[in-house]
Amino acid sequence: MYFNGNICVITGSGSGIGRALALGLGSRGATVIASDIHETNVKETAALVNEAGPGKAIAEAIDVSNEDAVSLHINRVADQYGRIDLIINNAGIAVTGEARDLSIEHWRRVINVNLMGVLYGSDTAYKIMTCQGFGHIVNISSLSGLVPFPTNIPYGTTKYAIVGLTAGLRAEGEALGVKVSMVCPGFIESNIYTSSEAVNVSKENLTDILPFKMVPVHKAAEKILKGIERNDAVIVFPGYAKFIWWLHRISARLTARTSRRLITDFRKLRNNND
Ligand code: NAD
Repeated sequence: MYFNGNICVITGSGSGIGRALALGLGSRGATVIASDIHETNVKETAALVNEAGPGKAIAEAIDVSNEDAVSLHINRVADQYGRIDLIINNAGIAVTGEARDLSIEHWRRVINVNLMGVLYGSDTAYKIMTCQGFGHIVNISSLSGLVPFPTNIPYGTTKYAIVGLTAGLRAEGEALGVKVSMVCPGFIESNIYTSSEAVNVSKENLTDILPFKMVPVHKAAEKILKGIERNDAVIVFPGYAKFIWWLHRISARLTARTSRRLITDFRKLRNNND
């Protein structure tokens, strides 16, 4: 079975997609090194993986925005297990709000976790994997890294940057034996919608205005693992996400309507709406 016996690192795996990926990899016989900023949650993930078997998991509290902590963590895994087969740079946050309501501190927070966190993980793992001559780096971007996501621009900015980082690394890594893939899904049922900060808007009805249905998290994890197995460059799902991405590549005008609708709906929820 693919992934059986693999050493797999997953950041942000105390919840949502990261936890579902840990469970999916564990069910395929992998050893999962799960990390998250929330220690209790990631310990629970590891316990779930170990309980379900046949793979196993250990948990560590790591803040991906801390360069030294990420580097130390990944190097320690490589030393302890003798290699790293797969790293999924998954941890991410969002700050929802219109650009006119956001401070630079909001931007900095999202960039430090979503972009710098993925960069620290990719950089450390890439250097280890180029020495090994094998390995797979998977960076979790989003459909909002391929098409604009107004009302969440810091998030979209980091997801676009991850696309650039991942595509370039894939090209450089190919001849060195390192596979690199990006994941760009549409909306997935996870805690990100409740845990994200919402600025100058009530969080309560925010998910109601999302233009598409959410994918259950375990289905998302299965799609991602199949894409990794195929070594897809870009893992995009569900069908509407593929369609919108295709439409956007033909002409940005074709997707502008969806953006306009989202902005109009969002402004109805915004405090002092205008
Ligand atoms: P989630 O909130 O359920 O999980 C995110 C995890 O990251 C949480 O456990 C959180 O504690 C952890 N985290 C946050 N900041 C961290 C930090 N500084 N260091 C380490 N861990 C940290 O959300 P999710 O939807 O499962 O998100 C996982 C990834 O998927 C994110 O990168 C997100 O942007 C991406 N994504 C989500 C969706 C969606 O609709 N849910 C769509 C596309 C992409």
